[in-house]
Amino acid sequence: MAEKITPHQKDSILVNNIKAVCNGPKESKHPKVYLKFENKQVTCPYCGNDFKQSDRVDNNL
Ligand SMILES: [Zn+2]
Repeated sequence: MAEKITPHQKDSILVNNIKAVCNGPKESKHPKVYLKFENKQVTCPYCGNDFKQSDRVDNNL
């Protein structure tokens, strides 16, 4: 049911913001997306990039 394309093996991208921004590799059809973190991590549904939220993020909004 939740079948996924095997992601490329690479390091997670550390983000020190409340949302991750991903626009994929150049010359791709990947739109610019804002990804909301869940449990301090999120995976881009377009390219499979893993993002990790930095501990230094100020979550006071
Ligand atoms: Zn992406």
